[in-house]
Amino acid sequence: MTYFGRETIDVVVVGSGLVGSTFARVLADSVPGATIEIIEAGSRLSEISGLHVRNFPTLDARDAAILTAQGHDRRVRLPISTYLPPKSGTGETGTLERPGLFSVSSLGKLPPHMEMPSVAMTSCVGGMGVLWRGSCPQPLGSEVSTLVPPEEHSDSIHQAYQLLGIPLGERPDNLTAELCSTLITRLDINQGIPPSSSIRALPIAATNSPDGTRWTGPDVILAGIAESPRSNVSIRASTHCRKVLLRGDRAVGVEVVDLESKELYQIHAQVIVLAADAFRTPQILYNSGIRPAHLGRHFNDHLQVTLQVVLSQPLQEVAAVASQQVDLGAQGCWIPFADESRPFHGQVLYGFQEDLRSERPLAVTAGISLYGRKEITGDDRVILHDTQRDIYDMPTISLHYRWTRQDRKTIDHLKLSALDIAHQLGVPSRHDPNVLPPGASLHYQGTMRMGATELESVCDAYGRVHTLSNVYVGGGGLIETSTACNPTLTAVALAHRSAKRISIEMKGGSKK
Ligand SMILES: Cc1cc2nc3c(=O)[nH]c(=O)nc-3n(C[C@H](O)[C@H](O)[C@H](O)COP(=O)(O)OP(=O)(O)OC[C@H]3O[C@@H](n4cnc5c(N)ncnc54)[C@H](O)[C@@H]3O)c2cc1C
Repeated sequence: MTYFGRETIDVVVVGSGLVGSTFARVLADSVPGATIEIIEAGSRLSEISGLHVRNFPTLDARDAAILTAQGHDRRVRLPISTYLPPKSGTGETGTLERPGLFSVSSLGKLPPHMEMPSVAMTSCVGGMGVLWRGSCPQPLGSEVSTLVPPEEHSDSIHQAYQLLGIPLGERPDNLTAELCSTLITRLDINQGIPPSSSIRALPIAATNSPDGTRWTGPDVILAGIAESPRSNVSIRASTHCRKVLLRGDRAVGVEVVDLESKELYQIHAQVIVLAADAFRTPQILYNSGIRPAHLGRHFNDHLQVTLQVVLSQPLQEVAAVASQQVDLGAQGCWIPFADESRPFHGQVLYGFQEDLRSERPLAVTAGISLYGRKEITGDDRVILHDTQRDIYDMPTISLHYRWTRQDRKTIDHLKLSALDIAHQLGVPSRHDPNVLPPGASLHYQGTMRMGATELESVCDAYGRVHTLSNVYVGGGGLIETSTACNPTLTAVALAHRSAKRISIEMKGGSKK
């Protein structure tokens, strides 16, 4: 590799997903004129940075984008998620393989017992945000962090809804309304659920218009600033961040490699933000010699159970009419978490939810997905290997993760609940709901958790790494509570709050 000198700007953001894009957008709005560079290891998929693949104009363009999002692993996959069962007698869990993603273990080979094959990631401009399903239930009850004052939490969730372009307060379509009222009568009222957790329309990051549905990708958050000649924000694609460069308790910049020319160079900046997901952000910190005791620990994802249901005849009739009026693919029903009364959260989505190729799903079936909280332990962790290097010459990542006895009980409860819900709506497609293998939920949390001090966490509630004055981390990895709700809304809310704090510091405001 050639060393190629250095550049100086205000802020480096590593990772161009929904979280990195939030940092860039909020900082650009709050500190006009600040120079902000988003460093992204993956390639561009389109001229519009971070456009969701479902918004691509043709199926061929969409397929090409999905393949590019797979980074180094360009094997063509089936257009839907595919379950690969374990080899018999190995005692391993199966793997869920999905278009657009590559497995963590494909970055660097490790002995099979150290792998978690369903843990997956993406590498492209826009990150997972070009593929995601957009479900944004908000955390409730004990899911909510106590580290953020309640009014600030509510405000940042509200800001996240806005950044993600989630239409709130709209009247649900007729099918969603009918389904919610069926479930409210049969479940909420019977089970004594409080009104705050009552079943309702699912907030989904997509907007319906007469021209069709527009799914929210990072492009919606960036709102054109990465393409505008008038803005000081740019995205440097195919550029890999290797480490943060330190001087005492401050970072002075990052070391990056241009993956095409192989040139190695430094970018100096006042503030460094790492939003490179729950695995690769800890990897960058570790490779920089920033190794707090809790880095990578408390790794958790959701326990997830799915079941298809053929809707009852009356619901099918409502569906037939509703599908003439709206794209039912962007609608759904939310069964909120309610602590002891309902210790999980659920979604009922119409049609085949994960087929990225399907243009207009048929609303005769519904997919029920229930998400349970993983019991969090410090032993479940991302392990970074000093001596083994991955394909980017970074410390190889392996994972230690086990379902506890409590987790298995939770899964049994989810299975029974999924069947119960399915019976209220029609005929379940099978008697034994699918249990997704560990890591398949794609809701990765905890690996750089927030907390009051370095003794129990990696960063503070603004995402600032405890031992450093100007290095911030963002993403689901910050979430320290045990949650059942999808993490992205919270991750974007936390990023908004962090970016606001950084902007005050950049403008010379108080640190507290
Ligand atoms: C099919 C699918 C459906 C989903 N559905 C939902 C849903 O309905 N609701 C929900 O809440 N969540 C959902 N998720 C998860 C959600 O997409 C993620 O939580 C979210 O997008 C993560 O955003 P992020 O910005 O933190 O990370 P990412 O989107 O993973 O972005 C990280 C970026 O950093 C880059 N990067 C990594 N390392 C480096 C490096 N060293 N140098 C430079 N760049 C680097 C990567 O290439 C990547 O582009 C879904 C995910 C998928 C794939």
